[in-house]
Amino acid sequence: MARIAVIGAGMGAMAAAARLAVAGHRPVVFERASTYGGAVGLLEREGFAFDTGPGLLPLPAVYRDLFVKTGKEPLEDLVGLTQIEPAVRHVFADGTTADLPNARRAGVAEALDAVVGSGAGARWSAFMDRAREAWDRSRRPLLEEPLWPNWRVLADREPYPALTRKRLLRKDRTATTLAGIGGLELGGDARLVALVEQYALAYGLDPRTAPASAAVLPYMEQTFGTWAVSGGLRALADAVYARCLQRRVEFRFDADVTRIVEKDGRAAGVELGDGAVEEADFVVAGVAPSVLDGLLAGRSVRGEVPAQSESALSSRLTVHLALRGARPEGTAHRTVVHGADRDAELAWLFDGGPRPDRPTVAVLRTGDPSQVPDAGHEAVTVIVTVPAHARVGGADVEAVLAATQRAVPDLRERILWHEIRAPQDIAETTGAAGGVVPAPALAAARGRLLHPANATALPGLFAVGGWSHPGGGLPHAGMSGALVAGLIVEGPQFRGSQ
Ligand SMILES: Cc1cc2nc3c(=O)[nH]c(=O)nc-3n(C[C@H](O)[C@H](O)[C@H](O)COP(=O)(O)OP(=O)(O)OC[C@H]3O[C@@H](n4cnc5c(N)ncnc54)[C@H](O)[C@@H]3O)c2cc1C
Repeated sequence: MARIAVIGAGMGAMAAAARLAVAGHRPVVFERASTYGGAVGLLEREGFAFDTGPGLLPLPAVYRDLFVKTGKEPLEDLVGLTQIEPAVRHVFADGTTADLPNARRAGVAEALDAVVGSGAGARWSAFMDRAREAWDRSRRPLLEEPLWPNWRVLADREPYPALTRKRLLRKDRTATTLAGIGGLELGGDARLVALVEQYALAYGLDPRTAPASAAVLPYMEQTFGTWAVSGGLRALADAVYARCLQRRVEFRFDADVTRIVEKDGRAAGVELGDGAVEEADFVVAGVAPSVLDGLLAGRSVRGEVPAQSESALSSRLTVHLALRGARPEGTAHRTVVHGADRDAELAWLFDGGPRPDRPTVAVLRTGDPSQVPDAGHEAVTVIVTVPAHARVGGADVEAVLAATQRAVPDLRERILWHEIRAPQDIAETTGAAGGVVPAPALAAARGRLLHPANATALPGLFAVGGWSHPGGGLPHAGMSGALVAGLIVEGPQFRGSQ
């Protein structure tokens, strides 16, 4: 039985701790905040409740597996999971709307034919077929297995089988980026371009440079579905925490780890803010790269993978709106209101340009009775991808409300109050510089969208959570917990749990 010091109580770290406890080890989680969940937070005020982190769950299979492997009660007995319908309503810049059904690809094609025009659905379906190939080729190495020692294969080889377009008197052209797919394979219709590019934006990535392999992001959503959790995503964090306690994982809250203690060339424990040293046989760190380096006096042990960095990704702004009046019948759970000016938005997010008048926003209207004081009120959360470190002022919130109004026309007269969570709040909650949110690992792009391996260069130290392989997002962070537990329990020969 090994004593394991886990740094941070984010979703990835808790998933690892529960699995390690079941394997007979003794994990102790040191969390600097007074609660668990990290990015998966909850704002409660005057009978309203809002998720301050992600509002929907993709790929619930990862958490189903966690609950099956760590106890008797399955996930579905502990949290209410519902596939939302439609999966998403799109309000395009020209005002046209499309409701895309959940995990029904034929239905998505029909909806696109009806809105964009005949042939659009077939083009999208053919794109999804190619995306499936990318998924089949990258699913094991980029979700289910520890990072390959020869990760350069993933960095150099594009798994997306792009179409080659021949042009008169010019060279053949092939899409190498998500934006390229929009132009070359989806026919360049502004709405299909917006649809595909929004998947990069939602994960904080630049569609102009995100590799074609980012096609797995829409593929995952449209194939495996999008799920709401009763009571909000925080209820999933509650369930994982409760499972940890059941397996006798120990939690120390308000316990800021300030140093990883080394002995005889391996990690041997953690030092806390009050100077106390907690010895351990293994250390599992579920924190951002800059935090981890700081715990080792600035030395990086994360290996040579180029990897997603806190300086190259975006953050999020969430605006939580308490509204008077009931949620109308037929309201979509999630509406994406596309920005008015694509180029201006990308320049703002990735090139240091000014904020556009109307950025792309995702409007979440859950209709969950437990999140409102009574049926005569509605809780709405708006999520916006914003540049890392962005300072948010009144004019920014006004721009978000103007965009939101396209999904909630009577918004202004219904607002009781609103609260915002800006990048600096995310930075405080997670420790990531600038409030940056990591994306799932993606192949190609010379490895710059991979994440470092879970086993680090310091023996006995493992990395878990969104900043380690296989990356950010709830399912991927959950998988990192499974991989770390496997590597500690079975050793370096562990090849994945599926
Ligand atoms: C607004 C927002 C929207 C998001 N939307 C989505 C989405 O739509 N889909 C999706 O899949 N994902 C989304 N994510 C990302 C997702 O929430 C995370 O990737 C996921 O929760 C994994 O988190 P993690 O395990 O890396 O831990 P984190 O949530 O990063 O938590 C890290 C923990 O470590 C603690 N910590 C830091 N330093 C120390 C220290 N020195 N000592 C002790 N403890 C420390 C922190 O307090 C924190 O609790 C979103 C995140 C945010 C903030």
